[in-house]
Amino acid sequence: MARLTNKGNWEGVIREFRAFLPEIREDAITTLKEGNTPLIEAVNLRDIFGGIRLLLKYEGLNPTGSFKDRGMTMAVSKAREEGSKAIICASTGNTSAAASAYAAKAGMKAFVLVPEGQIALGKLSQAMMHGALVLQVKGNFDEALRIVKEITSNYPITLVNSINPFRIEGQKTAAFEVCEHLGHAPTFHFLPVGNAGNITAYWKGYREYEEKGMIASLPKMMGFQAEGSAPIVIGHPIENPQTLATAIKIGNPASWQGALDAVKESGGAIEAVTDDEIIEAYKLLAAREGVFCEPASATSLAGAIKAKKEGVLNDGDTIVCTLTGHGLKDPDRAIASSQKPVKIAADTKKILKAMGF
Ligand SMILES: *Cc1c(COP(=O)(O)O)cnc(C)c1O
Repeated sequence: MARLTNKGNWEGVIREFRAFLPEIREDAITTLKEGNTPLIEAVNLRDIFGGIRLLLKYEGLNPTGSFKDRGMTMAVSKAREEGSKAIICASTGNTSAAASAYAAKAGMKAFVLVPEGQIALGKLSQAMMHGALVLQVKGNFDEALRIVKEITSNYPITLVNSINPFRIEGQKTAAFEVCEHLGHAPTFHFLPVGNAGNITAYWKGYREYEEKGMIASLPKMMGFQAEGSAPIVIGHPIENPQTLATAIKIGNPASWQGALDAVKESGGAIEAVTDDEIIEAYKLLAAREGVFCEPASATSLAGAIKAKKEGVLNDGDTIVCTLTGHGLKDPDRAIASSQKPVKIAADTKKILKAMGF
């Protein structure tokens, strides 16, 4: 059993959930002690949610600031076990940050392809600091992923996008943690959907926990895309996806079928929310719950608010929203979304006046 309450001794998801993961040779395990993120009770949104219990799975508290670490510890450890010397990924930002950090830890080379001008500042700075070769592609994520697939089918470099099955294996551990924290599965689980690896992974995790008798029921999986970038919702790939939630700006998701299966098998839904709804949820979380996530992450809460309005949720339900990444990743968006600081003279009287005294 995972020692979820004893953070000091937390060994990272591979060792903590060994019984539920593919085996990895001990000396190949590459971990930054990812996982064991908090499940935070949202107590200040009762005016919206009434008698529904809302919890936030705050994945921004992983070592590189997003859930991608859970999958990356698996993918990089496996690559290392197989003797690979280099990894490569296409990324909207967080995958490149995680890949770069875990490659550094493993002593491997990382190549990351990101759409030029489309990734948040914090994420770019991470990949650069960890010593990856950052290739800013004049194109979008989907084009970058196509190139990465082409390269890895011809050269001995390990692909660490979520089409790497070990990524999904690692990411499913977040579902285990939710069950451990709650003592059962939630009624609904809300997630942002970009490449759709994460919703696929959570559903796999919940199913496996049920099969092993760890939980008695399964949640309904609720995936949300941004309106201008909602290929799964509209039913075909999009050439030019648009959304300010850059982490989910993807027109042709790799795990499309996985998302559809999760939603269908669980009795959930996959829908879209507007950028305005995403920003509103992003601000609500920061201002009312004290939780700073990045815009894409708030898509889960925007989805939950929408579901509540549509009468999908009932009093007594326990719902979990995954907040996929940390707000500090995207300082530009945070500053653009909030009140400007007040410029003022170093004068006590003037400052007191500005404070309303
Ligand atoms: C990667 C990412 C997503 C999307 O996850 P998928 O597995 O691609 O659907 C959402 N939010 C953040 C912050 C991400 O980094």
